[in-house]
Amino acid sequence: MLVITGATGQFGRQVVEHLLRRGVPAGQVAAAVRTPARAAGLAALGVEVRLADYDRPETLRAAFAGAGKVLLVSSTGPDATRTAQHRAAVDAAAVSGVGILAYTSVTRAPTNPMGLAHVHRATERYLAGAGLPAVVLRNGWYTENHTAALPGAVARGSLTGSAGTGRIASAARADLAEAAAVVLTLDDQAGRTYDLTGDTAWTLPELAAEAAAQTGEPLAYTDLPAEEYRRILHRAGLPDPVADLIVDADVQISHGALAHVTGDLAALLGRPATPLSATVADALRG
Ligand code: NDP
Repeated sequence: MLVITGATGQFGRQVVEHLLRRGVPAGQVAAAVRTPARAAGLAALGVEVRLADYDRPETLRAAFAGAGKVLLVSSTGPDATRTAQHRAAVDAAAVSGVGILAYTSVTRAPTNPMGLAHVHRATERYLAGAGLPAVVLRNGWYTENHTAALPGAVARGSLTGSAGTGRIASAARADLAEAAAVVLTLDDQAGRTYDLTGDTAWTLPELAAEAAAQTGEPLAYTDLPAEEYRRILHRAGLPDPVADLIVDADVQISHGALAHVTGDLAALLGRPATPLSATVADALRG
């Protein structure tokens, strides 16, 4: 049985779909979710829906029972909570005798300077000491983290950020989900680590230019000092921790935190990664 946590989330759901598309029988896939009432769409795919709340370890042990492989999709929320949640999931997988645990980490986890990388470093360390066969999927930055803002930016004629001309080797979320599904269907993955970036790295000015080319409307990128960008995000209604995370990410991007390209993603997919232009087109279609 392949058990996918966070399966009502955008990434987890796509992993389930890719597994089925790759010919894994629905009866061998379980969608482990925090709120089964929200999983009707997954149940309709024929997969088993199991309750798995990272805050309730007993649900994790039950969800992982009989699992040959578990994909632990990293959680959301404050760092302290997430680290404890991930530890609980690793413990539950070890107690349940899971054959191999796959964990969605962050690109270049050991040295990634972004604030959001702390949780992943801590989880990777914990996993390494858990005595459980494991494979680490160091997911790259979702291209959608930036393209989601495009419809609003196009309407205003201005894309803002604090990433300067830092390069971003992002990947489409769907590609990362497909890569996770590929790894789950392969044997001999214990001890492996994949660093999953897009094939090329782009900048925010290039993103604006791509959107302008596709819409025929002018779109300029305006780079802002971090504090000003934080104020704008705050005024737009984003909670402080979320605004802080976005600004920190941009500042680290400006210093090159996401510039590296690895080739691991395309190798797993057996095709080039989805280019920026395609994800821009998706975002502009709405
Ligand atoms: P989503 O926000 O769409 O999904 C997050 C998933 O985590 C949801 O299914 C959510 O459950 C689940 N979750 C949160 N808390 C708990 C809990 N206590 N118990 C069980 N499940 C829980 O994010 P994505 O699917 O797009 O991304 C997956 C993960 O990747 C994120 O959770 C985050 O850790 C990370 N991420 C990576 C980014 C990147 O650029 N690489 C960007 C953003 C996030 P529910 O459906 O019930 O809410």
